[in-house]
Amino acid sequence: MSPRENWASASSTVVGVMGDPVRHSLSPLLHNTAFAALGLDWVSVGFPVKEGGAPSALAALVPLGIAGLSVTMPHKRVVRALVDECTEVAGRLDAVNCVINRDDRLVGDNTDGQGFLEALGRGTGMDPRARRCVVVGAGGAARAVVLALYEAGAGEVVVVARRPEAALAAAALAGEVGRVGSAREAPECDLIVNATPIGMVGHSKQPPVVPAEALGPGQVVVDLIYEPAETAWMAAAARRGATVLGGIGMLVHQAAAQLERWTGLEPPVEAMWAAATAAHGS
Ligand code: NAP
Repeated sequence: MSPRENWASASSTVVGVMGDPVRHSLSPLLHNTAFAALGLDWVSVGFPVKEGGAPSALAALVPLGIAGLSVTMPHKRVVRALVDECTEVAGRLDAVNCVINRDDRLVGDNTDGQGFLEALGRGTGMDPRARRCVVVGAGGAARAVVLALYEAGAGEVVVVARRPEAALAAAALAGEVGRVGSAREAPECDLIVNATPIGMVGHSKQPPVVPAEALGPGQVVVDLIYEPAETAWMAAAARRGATVLGGIGMLVHQAAAQLERWTGLEPPVEAMWAAATAAHGS
């Protein structure tokens, strides 16, 4: 087959990732890998849209026949108000990471929490039901994890964050089992999740909020960062006997859930995993 036969054409279905910056995004790689594995004439591209540009970008989706969007920084919150309807989870998180063009009506959803839970199960076998959990951070990713843990039946969800109002708002997503706490509680917990950028490539070097010395056997330690694939915090926790998981799994599973929303098909998760690990190592 000549390369030309693989090109997108006038009959291809288009989706994309909207954000700023967007050139580093792995979404097109993950989704195009999946479309190829499924034999679909679909293509995913990057849409670099600056802050303030989301209303005109969203208004163009239906006229252009774009089937869906992944939404990333800085648009997740504003898009929630621009869609025709929202799923319950996107409404509770007040953030949309996936737009579905359903018969010319735009539906906003959020697949981050689903991606986290599926990655946790696949990567560690852990079921959060009745478990004591610590989530470090109170931003978009932390909020999605807190809500997902609550819905999965966690026994306790302790939010550790430096801004008290944000910590309270995140903890409230876990209802009666959510509360604000401190990093000192980590040794007594079953699951510890870092949802801050501390340890990420390009981020200033700062000590982790929960020191690795507080972690050990019997605990599951998740760093949502995927660049690097293994953070120094994960490596130190693993040396102390904890079970560790990086952020590539959540990245793959949240993208897989988006593909399922757009196409209604079972996502080829293994192919997407292979593409993500080839791009970022594991
Ligand atoms: P965000 O909305 O900006 O939230 C970041 C959170 O980290 C905020 O609570 C922030 O506190 C806190 N924080 C930042 N620097 C800190 C520091 N030095 N000490 C203590 N807290 C600090 O970002 P996000 O979208 O939630 O992303 C957070 C991390 O998760 C990033 O590393 C991102 O790459 C990763 N992530 C991974 C996936 C995945 O699929 N694996 C998905 C989403 C995000 P303030 O509000 O006080 O600044």
